[in-house]
Amino acid sequence: MRRHTILILGGTHEGHAMAAALSDHALFTPVSSLAGRTDPPRHPPGEVRVGGFGGFMGLARYLGDAEIAAVIDATHPFAERMGWNAATACALAGRPLLRLERPPWRPGQGDRWTAVETWDEAVAHLEASGARSVFLPLGGRDLDAFAGLSTVSVLIRAVDAHDPPPPLRDATVITARGPFTVEGETALLRDHAIDAVVCRNSGGPAGAKLAAARSLGIPVIMRRRPPRPVVPRVASVPRAVSWLETLT
Ligand code: NAP
Repeated sequence: MRRHTILILGGTHEGHAMAAALSDHALFTPVSSLAGRTDPPRHPPGEVRVGGFGGFMGLARYLGDAEIAAVIDATHPFAERMGWNAATACALAGRPLLRLERPPWRPGQGDRWTAVETWDEAVAHLEASGARSVFLPLGGRDLDAFAGLSTVSVLIRAVDAHDPPPPLRDATVITARGPFTVEGETALLRDHAIDAVVCRNSGGPAGAKLAAARSLGIPVIMRRRPPRPVVPRVASVPRAVSWLETLT
């Protein structure tokens, strides 16, 4: 039986899981694509290519050259560019495209969330709210937007101490790698007298800080996901595999 080559735009847990599922499938051969930002990247099972394609034209060319049958966009919800490139390239090359995306977190009873579109909006909200001690569990690029924050002390959590020092004046940095527990997150927020949490709506299993904020009644400023093109979308690997099977 003829096997179909499937390009997985990855760099995420979902992309990794999709590659693992297709490696064991009789009909499909996965090729995972990583941007190459992390060093060394965590390689998913099967063939892996690393680095950008050179915009949507480069990706459209690659789809033809590599005889890709379909594309799974499993990039991170906050990867702003790649989904748009994939949609344009697939339209140009006439290849089907599916978005595989973890569901966003949704506020439940007891949550005090304010949704924002940009970090500038989050900064304005913090300045206006009178928050004194803010938890920013964000990465380097995101922290830059908070450099002008004047009135608060900030707790930053980074994966390792090699990250560049934060551009903030009154910042305490702790190094830790998840997964985190609700008990641990509650103790952290209490110990640092945190009165506001800022985060991105990444979704997935890292929701312990949100449960901790809920239990302590602490407000959360939640950044919405950036817009994505309208393409077929699923939230799980089995559904993505079923979608591919309908194409054969
Ligand atoms: P982005 O803004 O959507 O993409 C910027 C450029 O990086 C793209 O135009 C493309 O370059 C290249 N690129 C992105 N994803 C690629 C992939 N899977 N394979 C090959 N090239 C890729 O993405 P980003 O925010 O820089 O994130 C880069 C990668 O890290 C993504 O794959 C994403 O899944 C992963 N990641 C991102 C985050 C986050 O918070 N942004 C978190 C965890 C993992 P060309 O135009 O040259 O093709």
